[in-house]
Amino acid sequence: MPLPSAPLSRRQFLATAAAGALSVRALAESVATPAPAIPIVDIHQHTPFTGRTDTELIAHQRANGIRKTILLPAGRANKLAAGVEPVAHTYDFIQQHPGGEFAFFANDDIDAPGAVSEIARYLDKGAIGIGELKDKVKCDSEHVVHVAELARDRGVPVIMHFQDGTYNDGFANFHRIIEKFPTVKFIAHAQTFWCYVDKNYVAAHGLYPKTKITPGGLSDRWLADYPNFYGDLSAGSGTNALLRQPEFGKAFIERHQDKLLFGSDCSCKTGRGPTCFSVEKFGMWRDMGITDSIMRKILFANAQTMFRFPDLA
Ligand SMILES: [Zn+2]
Ligand SMILES: [Zn+2]
Repeated sequence: MPLPSAPLSRRQFLATAAAGALSVRALAESVATPAPAIPIVDIHQHTPFTGRTDTELIAHQRANGIRKTILLPAGRANKLAAGVEPVAHTYDFIQQHPGGEFAFFANDDIDAPGAVSEIARYLDKGAIGIGELKDKVKCDSEHVVHVAELARDRGVPVIMHFQDGTYNDGFANFHRIIEKFPTVKFIAHAQTFWCYVDKNYVAAHGLYPKTKITPGGLSDRWLADYPNFYGDLSAGSGTNALLRQPEFGKAFIERHQDKLLFGSDCSCKTGRGPTCFSVEKFGMWRDMGITDSIMRKILFANAQTMFRFPDLA
C-alpha cells in the first residue's frame, strides 16, 4: 500500500523553523497529510470543542484525510470539561451531514437520574457506542456498572476517560468491570490509562510522568490479557506516553497492534501544522518506523473490525 513520505516530526519541524530554512508556507505543507489509501477512522472527536465550530470540525477532519469520524457528545451538564454539547447537538449535526463522514456515540452524566434511559434513547436513534464517559465517579461504581449493562445488552463499546482523582477514579480497580462484562468492549483513554503503561507508576508521579518506564504496567497487561480491553491512542496523553521512551512506544504499538485505535481528540481549528494532534501522531508513528501494515490496523482495520461500517467494507 503506498504511503506518503514521512512528514516532519514536531521536533524536526521546530528545529527547521528555528533555523529559518523554510518559509512558513512550505513548512505547513511539508507537515504532510496521511495516506488517502487508508480510509482513516478517527474514533475520538467532539463538536463543538473548546470554541471550535461545527464547520471548523469538518475542515479539521478533511485536512487530515479522515474518512470517518466518531463524534463523542458530552453529558447533559458535564460538557466533558471542554465546551462539548450533549448528544442532541451531535445527533442534529449528523442529520445535517448525511453521507457517512460522521458517526456518533450516546452519552450522559452517568450519575444523573435517568442517564441510562437517555443513553438508550440515542442508541435507538443510531448511536454506535457509549462515551466518552467523563464523570466524577469511581470507575467501578454502580453508575459505570449500569452503563456497562446497557452496553452489554445493546452490543456496543464504551469509551472511558481515566483520570485518577477526578474522572472514573481508581483505574487499578477497573479489572473488576472488565471481568464482570466480558462481552463489552471497553476502550481506554486519557492520562491515567497511559500512566499505567509503567509497572512502577504511583500517583505521586503525576498525570504526565517522565520517569523511565518499567514494562509490565496494568494497561500493558490488560491489553494482553483481556480480549475486551482496548486502547484509544488519542490526545496529548496518548502521544506523550509513546514518546516518553520511543523504543518502548514502538514496542507497545507492535505488541498491541490489534487492540489500539486511532483517535485525535484534537480541538485545533485547522487540522494543519505540527501542533495538531493528528498531524503529530501520524508523524510520530512514521518517525518510529511503525510498519504500513500496523499503521493500517490502528488507523482503520481495528475500528472496522469493531464497528463494521457498511460503507467501508
Ligand atoms: Zn475527548
Ligand atoms: Zn488538530
